Amino acid sequence: MTSPGPSANGGFKAGWWALLLGALALAAAVLLILHPPHLLLASPFARESRAPAVSASPAVFGRSGQVRVQMVLPNEPFDFPLEVRGDPGSLAYAWVRAQDSAAVTPTQPLVGSRVVAPGFSGFYRLEVESESGRRLIDSILVAVLVPYSAKIGQTINGYRIGNYRSGIESDAPPPPRGFVEVTRESAELPVSKHLRLSDFITHDDQQDRWPKYVALDARVLDKVELVIAYVGAFRGGRNRTVEVDVHSGFRSPVHNQRVPRAARDSRHQYGDAADLAIDADGDGRVTYRDGMLVSLQVEQVERDFPQYVGGLGLYGNQNGVPYVHIDVRGRRVRWKG
Ligand SMILES: [Zn+2]
Repeated sequence: MTSPGPSANGGFKAGWWALLLGALALAAAVLLILHPPHLLLASPFARESRAPAVSASPAVFGRSGQVRVQMVLPNEPFDFPLEVRGDPGSLAYAWVRAQDSAAVTPTQPLVGSRVVAPGFSGFYRLEVESESGRRLIDSILVAVLVPYSAKIGQTINGYRIGNYRSGIESDAPPPPRGFVEVTRESAELPVSKHLRLSDFITHDDQQDRWPKYVALDARVLDKVELVIAYVGAFRGGRNRTVEVDVHSGFRSPVHNQRVPRAARDSRHQYGDAADLAIDADGDGRVTYRDGMLVSLQVEQVERDFPQYVGGLGLYGNQNGVPYVHIDVRGRRVRWKG
């Protein structure tokens, strides 16, 4: 008696497997017809998905992580650190206008983090290009300033600024490097999480005149955002959303002379100061107590970030609306108004 040979048994098994594989292949073919793989189809998102994995480095947003604008002069080389994931090959960049994404500069090779600003004042975003596509870095604006040298007499483009003392007195601080040109449309652009460009426009008698010109230092934006974050942390879980009202941002020298109680050499003229009304205790009103709470947080911010040391003025104990003046003049100064 012979047992069934392995070949006979194996032959049966092989036939069974062939049948099974055939059935699976047929099922797969049916599935492919019913659900064609998306990768094989022309997709409108193909360009987007293959674009380089590039984003602005956290350093661009200041120590607070909340700054949304960088101020530079026309054609000025400056650092725009990027985070690049994977190896996108060689990178290039171009500037596009913020309002309509129109390219304004030819594509240039990107070497390290160094870029060169566009040659004309305005608001721009960086577009990064690799062999696989383009990516717009839309998390931060670049404001190209109108240089200080564009001020003719007391005005820029017909907008009254006045005179800085630096041209008259040798011990005066240097004037701003330039001014942000602000139109009705760009006035609403956010310059940080809580602040808009309009917060820094001089409150003078040129309300109907456009464009306006504003001196603005990104360091004061960063300091304000740090103070807001510290006030929120101080409040804890109860209500961390902090509202801020900017009473005064930039003040042109000619307007500063007319402001009662304003210092003759007020830092507001240089764009690195802000007067803030913050409801620090979250009770729905801005009181002198809020000013004291904000002052405590300003002290702590200056201890943690000595690069932002400056003036701290507490106003409104007797009468008037309570507010806190802060600036980044680089020297610790304290006063009560
Ligand atoms: Zn002030």
